[in-house]
Amino acid sequence: MIDSDSNQPQGKLIIAIDGPAGAGKSTIAARLARRLGYVNLESGAMYRALALKAIDKDMSFADEAALVKLAEQSHIKLEPAVGGNRTLLDGRDVSSRIRERDVTEAASHVSLHPAVRAWMVAHQRAMGAGGGIVMEGRDIGTKVFPDADLKIFLDADAVVREQRRREQQQIKGEVASTVAAELRERDRRDRTRAASPLLAAADAVVIDSTKLTEDEVLDMVEELARRKLAG
Ligand code: C5P
Repeated sequence: MIDSDSNQPQGKLIIAIDGPAGAGKSTIAARLARRLGYVNLESGAMYRALALKAIDKDMSFADEAALVKLAEQSHIKLEPAVGGNRTLLDGRDVSSRIRERDVTEAASHVSLHPAVRAWMVAHQRAMGAGGGIVMEGRDIGTKVFPDADLKIFLDADAVVREQRRREQQQIKGEVASTVAAELRERDRRDRTRAASPLLAAADAVVIDSTKLTEDEVLDMVEELARRKLAG
């Protein structure tokens, strides 16, 4: 669906959208950015790209120092595109590859390391510094942009998030239950890790999307953004 962008605001807000997997962050962030004429940046794609490189090089996901070195030698680029980011790893388009299960799992491990996170955060700050961005992830409102103009923490019941993920990926049967179990486990790792665990910033607006449609969430978030722009 193409959102109308006829009423683009002039301001350059930094908007942070955090939350667990399957809460609808990516879709909302992409559509909100389109409505506002902003750039949408998916921070998770950067962790995924690094994880893919580690897979390709047969590296251990536990070796923090080696992963940071790998990151320093990598060129990870997010290119805003309709419906999400195009992700380039050393010039190669890995947008589809990084959505596969092995990379999803690896990214969840790679992201546990404080030094890897520090590298990511520095790059994410540089990418978003000019404003006019909607950045989504797990630690955008707490770590990457603690002074973001608007912080949204988008949540939903685990069962609903698993259901949405299943529908998105059109997964059925046994594989679906494995995917659900993996999603729960990734969530647990994100919430319990020592470095920047997933949590709502104190000044975030928490939206529980369990009983809301995508359009309802989008309208709420857009309204919050336009109120910020109006001062
Ligand atoms: O959002 P996405 O599912 O693409 O993120 C992939 C993984 O990267 C997540 O499972 C999470 O562990 C990690 N991540 C993170 N901090 C972010 C974005 C993603 O730790 N800001």
